[in-house]
Amino acid sequence: MASCAARSRAELNQAPAVRRVGIFGGTFDPVHIGHLRSALEVTELMGLDELRLLPNARPPHRDTPQVDAQARLAMVQSAVSGVECLSVDARELGRDKPSYTIDSLESIRAELGGDDQLFLVLGWDAFCGLPGWHRWEELLQHCHILVLQRPDADVEPPDELRNLLAARSQSDPTAMSGPAGHISFVWQTPLAVSATQIRQLLASGKSVRFLVPDAVLAYIEAHDLYRGSN
Ligand code: ATP
Repeated sequence: MASCAARSRAELNQAPAVRRVGIFGGTFDPVHIGHLRSALEVTELMGLDELRLLPNARPPHRDTPQVDAQARLAMVQSAVSGVECLSVDARELGRDKPSYTIDSLESIRAELGGDDQLFLVLGWDAFCGLPGWHRWEELLQHCHILVLQRPDADVEPPDELRNLLAARSQSDPTAMSGPAGHISFVWQTPLAVSATQIRQLLASGKSVRFLVPDAVLAYIEAHDLYRGSN
């Protein structure tokens, strides 16, 4: 089936252009409406052919996820099932080593055409932590970076990022040209939801209905996840 942007091009009788692929990595422990609404809005704003949610196996920058990779993957898959432009990329879950974003970007880039545009989507908090990432200075060789506002984030960017922003940022995300190399900001519906909050609600026996899709809620309940700790 043709993807959203590809189909609108077909409807307009336009020749296939370069592909525009977004990658949205995360622990997704569990996936929630903050992730999903952002994913959808960035896809529409940027006219992406596809936005892939990329669950991390063993995130190098944070605590071990509370729920195993298979369950987190199942929840993300159920969340995007039937949502045309959103898909799941499980490549990091097959690796027996920490999930380094640079490795995923290199492998995804190798599967795309040289002119295809690759966009790494990061929340503001994740972006501010970038200088701690493995080979972070190489990321922009493979992709553009789209930074999402995060209403509950109060993090300041470190100096290395201020310098990078001065050199590489572009005010209009939809005007980013070329396959890689620029940074821009995307302002979407602010939803101050976090997986931490969801785990805490569940641990204290409260409902997370409407904070996660119904299919994710059903999975959490069926497998009795996140009960009793956070
Ligand atoms: P936790 O509370 O466990 O740290 P989280 O809710 O931040 O989890 P992650 O899986 O760590 O979720 O996030 C994946 C990506 O989604 C990150 O880039 C993060 O900044 C972004 N993100 C998470 N929640 C939101 C939200 N409500 N709005 C916008 N971006 C978000």
